[in-house]
Amino acid sequence: MRAEILMPTPDAIRRAAALLRAGELVAFPTETVYGLGGDATNAAAVAAIFAAKGRPALNPLICHVADVAAARPLARFDARAEILATAFWPGPLTLVLPRAADCPATAAVSAGLPSLAVRAPAHPIAQALLAAAGVPLAAPSANRAGRISATAAAHVLAELGDKVKLILDGGDCAIGIESTVVGLTGEQATLLRPGGLATGDIEALIGPLARPGAGPAESPGMLSAHYAPRLPLRINALHPEGREGLLAFGPHAPSGFAAVFNLSERGDLAEAAHNLYAGLRALDRDDLDGIAVAPIPAAGLGVAINDRLRRAAKPPSA
Ligand code: AMP
Ligand code: MG
Repeated sequence: MRAEILMPTPDAIRRAAALLRAGELVAFPTETVYGLGGDATNAAAVAAIFAAKGRPALNPLICHVADVAAARPLARFDARAEILATAFWPGPLTLVLPRAADCPATAAVSAGLPSLAVRAPAHPIAQALLAAAGVPLAAPSANRAGRISATAAAHVLAELGDKVKLILDGGDCAIGIESTVVGLTGEQATLLRPGGLATGDIEALIGPLARPGAGPAESPGMLSAHYAPRLPLRINALHPEGREGLLAFGPHAPSGFAAVFNLSERGDLAEAAHNLYAGLRALDRDDLDGIAVAPIPAAGLGVAINDRLRRAAKPPSA
């Protein structure tokens, strides 16, 4: 199979929705990263997502819905969830909530946990697809497990071109980094993954978030090496070690590197998040020995950027 890439015309959306309802997988753009979508209520489709990505079955998927109304049959919203969904949906915020009693999402979406991660994406193509499909879409990032997330249709083709029938091309993802994941299954709201919505915006509404050690019980996907290029990655680098490519940030990039990709010459963290995965892909070259990353401030979106880079720098066995 070789994926077809289609511009998101009404006709293409209808075709994609028909494929999804028939249990096939479709990759589609969201404002964060591209998703590998399948009908969340179809056990075979969900199994196909895990297989296509090579994703461990213990790492649950995010269920995408159009809005809060579409999420209610899936998960139980408490007062905090209502406040956050009202304020930030549609947008780059995922809520982990208790599964509803008759939750139609197949158990594998939750990796067997009693909770479900739900998000309403803001991207107009994602919204059009959800409306046309009429089912919640389980959609992890459209990359092989552990590798760099896809923020353009060409990245999806490179990662999963032989695993998916159709890729809807929405151009570059505006935010470029995954959603912020907040756990609301217990008394204490927890930050399970920093992401495209700054933590401060959430804490302003529901108070401080706990930052767990991201143990397997909390958020299984946060355990292993993730977001990784093929080359070894070194963070907070100021000088080259061997033939390295530099992922730079700001106007004063250190010199002496064999190649340079500047995430944001003007030192803008939103621009850096937008360019992060494309930059990692661009430097993941056979003629280099490694990728070095310049220090990036850990404020605002910089928290999520540094989280991804730390995980990408982990050895695969960690
Ligand atoms: P991805 O879809 O690849 O961007 O990753 C989804 C993230 O959400 C992973 O870090 C998952 O571990 C996390 N996640 C999804 N569902 C749950 C859940 N039920 N409980 C805790 N974390 C979850
Ligand atoms: Mg992912």
